[in-house]
Amino acid sequence: MEIRSSALRTNYRRVRTIVGSRPGILPVVKADGYGLGMRRVVETLEPLDPWGYGVETVGEGMALRSYGIDRPVLVMAPIPPSEVDRAVAAGMRLSISSPGAVENVARAARRAGRRAHIHVEIDTGMGRAGLDWRRADEWGARLRAANDGEIEWEGVYTHFHSAADLGSRAIFEQVERFRAALGELRHRGPGRWMEHMCNSSGLVRSPELASDLVRPGIFLYGARRWPGVEDPESVVTVRSRIVLVRDVPAGTTLGYGATYTSSRHERWATVAIGYGDGIPRALGSGGEVIVGGRRVPIIGRISMGMTVVDITGVPGPSARVGAQVTIVGEDGGERITLTDVARVSGTITHEILTRLSPRLPRVWLP
Ligand SMILES: *Cc1c(COP(=O)(O)O)cnc(C)c1O
Repeated sequence: MEIRSSALRTNYRRVRTIVGSRPGILPVVKADGYGLGMRRVVETLEPLDPWGYGVETVGEGMALRSYGIDRPVLVMAPIPPSEVDRAVAAGMRLSISSPGAVENVARAARRAGRRAHIHVEIDTGMGRAGLDWRRADEWGARLRAANDGEIEWEGVYTHFHSAADLGSRAIFEQVERFRAALGELRHRGPGRWMEHMCNSSGLVRSPELASDLVRPGIFLYGARRWPGVEDPESVVTVRSRIVLVRDVPAGTTLGYGATYTSSRHERWATVAIGYGDGIPRALGSGGEVIVGGRRVPIIGRISMGMTVVDITGVPGPSARVGAQVTIVGEDGGERITLTDVARVSGTITHEILTRLSPRLPRVWLP
């Protein structure tokens, strides 16, 4: 797995260009920096002076602290009550989805002898976390009552469920709900705080919603394209090598379940990568790789550490043992994107990236 630091930085700067100079940028580095390696991701972005970093677990936040990151770290999910103390002691920003959560944070802050910063999440339709937007009138007072001066109300946010679906108007309905809830909270609740809504798709399609802070993930990692917007630069390449070449007669079966049988004389190459490296097994039906600048089909079921491709007709030198195979990336003018892999595998690029396994060495390029 090759990762281009310069492309990661370029994409960060592109986010800055899209949203303008005012909003803070919170690179989302959850799930080990979308599988790239959180430590190297933040080391690469640090010189660009982001407002802070977004994670989902306290463990991820602790890892950032252990790398010496003392910027704000926002945990963008509810956490188990047993984790609150160490999160507050480490100065993490916790997301609040219930008045009970504020009370827990306030108690932890008293125990730690420090103020705790929180971001209140408003659920405007995502359903997995946040305070129900329809009940904002009662939340404001309850949030205020839970605070005895130990809580700093730093932010309030919501999350879009269909921002990536450019044909959907749901994003605007969610914005209206968010604004309505904010009006109630401002009236009855804690007052002025940072407002934020946008993930990558949100900020790309509606930069006017950037507000005080944006939370880009997948855009930074170059793994998605949006019509009408300059593509982010691709950051990740996945390559392997041919470890065996065989000429087989018609009638030779291949792989678990022997789901593939050669129909003529064929040349097969075994490639040293499989689902144990995070290559989706579903790519076995319809997936391709690039060998010597040519797209060739994956055949049979993908094994844990081996994938077989049909290289019949690919000229000798580029298809011999030791030759490079591109699963994601460019070779000789051919290109397979993460989006292609996600489409054939029936999933999204976020999942493809985050499941690339630790067995694949991460090679960071300038
Ligand atoms: C993961 C996540 C993001 C980033 O989403 P992308 O689609 O990768 O840009 C932003 N906000 C929240 C709350 C998230 O959970």
